[in-house]
Amino acid sequence: MTDANDVVIIGGGAAGCAAAYYLGLAGIRSTIIEGDALASQASGFAAGGLNPLQGSGIPGPLAALAMESFKMHRTLAEDLREATGIDYESRVVTQVKLAVDESEIPDLEETFQIFAGAPGFEARRMDAAELHSLEPRLGPSVISGVYTKGNVGLDSYKYTLALAAGAEKLGATVRSGIVRGLERSGGRVTKVLLEEGEIPCGTLVLAMGPWSRMAEPWLDAYIPVDPLKGEILRVEPSGPPLAHDFSGGGSSLYPKPDGLVWCGTTEEWRGFDRQPLESTRQTLMERAVRLMPSLAQARLTLHTACLRPVTPDWLPIIGKPPGYDNVVLATGAGKKGILLSPGFGKAVADMISSGETQMPVSDFKPGRFSQPSDKASR
Ligand SMILES: Cc1cc2nc3c(=O)[nH]c(=O)nc-3n(C[C@H](O)[C@H](O)[C@H](O)COP(=O)(O)OP(=O)(O)OC[C@H]3O[C@@H](n4cnc5c(N)ncnc54)[C@H](O)[C@@H]3O)c2cc1C
Repeated sequence: MTDANDVVIIGGGAAGCAAAYYLGLAGIRSTIIEGDALASQASGFAAGGLNPLQGSGIPGPLAALAMESFKMHRTLAEDLREATGIDYESRVVTQVKLAVDESEIPDLEETFQIFAGAPGFEARRMDAAELHSLEPRLGPSVISGVYTKGNVGLDSYKYTLALAAGAEKLGATVRSGIVRGLERSGGRVTKVLLEEGEIPCGTLVLAMGPWSRMAEPWLDAYIPVDPLKGEILRVEPSGPPLAHDFSGGGSSLYPKPDGLVWCGTTEEWRGFDRQPLESTRQTLMERAVRLMPSLAQARLTLHTACLRPVTPDWLPIIGKPPGYDNVVLATGAGKKGILLSPGFGKAVADMISSGETQMPVSDFKPGRFSQPSDKASR
């Protein structure tokens, strides 16, 4: 067991804030150190889609944690609304995966099989005529689709703030500051060194997202997490609000409760560059317009860029790094960090409160990367 007051969490994104919240539920107070602002990085700008059935490692080694986290999300929205008053617009969404050429049809069939076979989810194949009557603004290039129901959408910025606010209600503290190093004694971290000041530390949670490698020299550990840039356009379409998410032809359209449609997303290895690019804006618009030609007239309200934390095997890192008793890593969630965050938070809280967890995270130990390898395979 840990001293209830000296857990320090580096990083105020979804991973760090979820850790603080679940630690709070376990009766353990923590301090979140954030170098910028809470949810100021990917956790505040993600598309906010929770799909536990598909993605890197799903089906596969990430499936159990994804589904467990998804189930936790369903009750978390109400719990956090009650505790904090923050409604982060968690809602079940309907999604239509589209083919704009024959090569995309096998993908549709795979989606149909996965959703049709999953309890609590629905799937239906649709031909071009059905699709155009469902949404007349779809373009003529759309030839086929699969309609699914059961995934969840939420506002990831408000969600992350709600986790932090919920944690604060349970005794957590949020402190501004950039961490520059750690003080160690044997296999324990004893202090967190900030640009200004230092904090004594009984247990350290490292939730630094794409910046996790910064901690490699602090811990003499190998933490292979690299930044994968993603950009999104927020546009104001004409006509009635879109009723479904649409994806296909390299584009995803996410209608939001405020009537905006988010058009995404890109995946680029560009180091820590977080500049939205004009060339990417054009590409995202071209792809979106191919699905829905009327979007060419939509007003652009915001263009965002942020960084996903990605590991070489595209699986997260959760657990103690080799040689350390009082350090837990919670990073590398890649394209699924909002979905996985309750699972991350609970696993971290369990490890700190009792030394073990029933959450399905045993495949994600930091020590699995024994040999420095290249960046995540591209
Ligand atoms: C375009 C895009 C769309 C996405 N869509 C989805 C989606 O639909 N669903 C989904 O589940 N996931 C999605 N993701 C992925 C998700 O956003 C990330 O996996 C998740 O936000 C990572 O959370 P994190 O807390 O690990 O990292 P971050 O959100 O990056 O937070 C890390 C925090 O640590 C702080 N920090 C780092 N170093 C220090 C230091 N030395 N001192 C103090 N503070 C420090 C940073 O300032 C930052 O706030 C998307 C990502 C992108 C880019």
